Amino acid sequence: MKSKYIIVCIDNETEILNELERKITKIIDSNYIVYTYTSAEEALSQSLIHIANGQEILMSISSYNLSNMNGEEFLTSLFKYSPYTKNIVFENDLTLKSIKNIINNATIYKLVEKNLKHYNLELMVLDAIKIYDSERRVRDYQAILEDAVEKRTKDLKDTNVKLHILATTDSLTGIKNRRSFFESSEPMMPYIKREGQQLAILAIDIDKFKAINDTYGHIKGDEALILVTKTISQTLRKSDIFGRLGGEEFAVTLPNTSLDGATFVAEKMREAIENLNFKSNDSSHIKITISIGITSMTQNDENLEDMLVRADEALYKAKGNGRNQVCVA
Ligand code: GH3
Ligand code: MG
Ligand code: MG
Repeated sequence: MKSKYIIVCIDNETEILNELERKITKIIDSNYIVYTYTSAEEALSQSLIHIANGQEILMSISSYNLSNMNGEEFLTSLFKYSPYTKNIVFENDLTLKSIKNIINNATIYKLVEKNLKHYNLELMVLDAIKIYDSERRVRDYQAILEDAVEKRTKDLKDTNVKLHILATTDSLTGIKNRRSFFESSEPMMPYIKREGQQLAILAIDIDKFKAINDTYGHIKGDEALILVTKTISQTLRKSDIFGRLGGEEFAVTLPNTSLDGATFVAEKMREAIENLNFKSNDSSHIKITISIGITSMTQNDENLEDMLVRADEALYKAKGNGRNQVCVA
């Protein structure tokens, strides 16, 4: 089994290293392993390899005065990859400047004499292990909490998106519902007025739809509604706004479109619906037609409702004139 926690000891003197290893090995189990180095450079590169392999540097015990790389450089470099390591530093040869640098750019757990006879190193190491362990558990717990919070936030966001879709979409046809149609269309009115552009509205109603329901059943009626919606959508531009106002009544807002342009679009729609090949369950042809009323925005129109009232009047004219036709207000 690979030990998870590593205790790194660095000193010029091998006797000190041997003593450290002997004292520490006596008090740890197989989860922990002691590595000793006379070179700080080697200690650093080996430690980084261990960290990359998923092991943790629990503790370092080091001198300041080492060949090539000194203890101060070792600690500040290691800190970047292992900030929670408990660092025990031998005070011999350490300058105040170095201590300042280690405190500011790494950490010092204990500053001790190099003479191990003067204090109980084993107790100090056991304490450090205990503290490291409890700090680690707090960090793990925090990570779990943060994950949970993040997941909840995402769930909430997903739920909000779902709620928004539910609130703005007609469930049968998938196009905008009445409220969403108004909310999408109305804000463009003042802008289009100001820019001196044109805006047209179509009020669309399926002819004798009740008869389709009565003859072929409600489910066939629903299918007809879906097919009509799909067919109308195909005649529209991306910038056009299409909504189901209720039952078999629809409306389209056509930005930057003249009355002539709107009439052309409406006529195309009417024809496309008339030419649909819609069949009953026993394969007989079901004729679907629509009537359309059109109006263009005037300076007096304050809101969409004003325009829709006019478009509806034109629609009823189309119905009165025999249905399956387009009428301009
Ligand atoms: P007109 O040509 O004058 O518009 O006649 P119409 O029969 O289309 O008009 P009417 O308003 O009398 O009937 C509309 C019918 O649409 C009545 C209603 O049952 C049906 N309808 C409304 N919503 C739905 C729906 O979601 N699914 C189905 N299958 N039918 C619906
Ligand atoms: Mg109708
Ligand atoms: Mg109707």
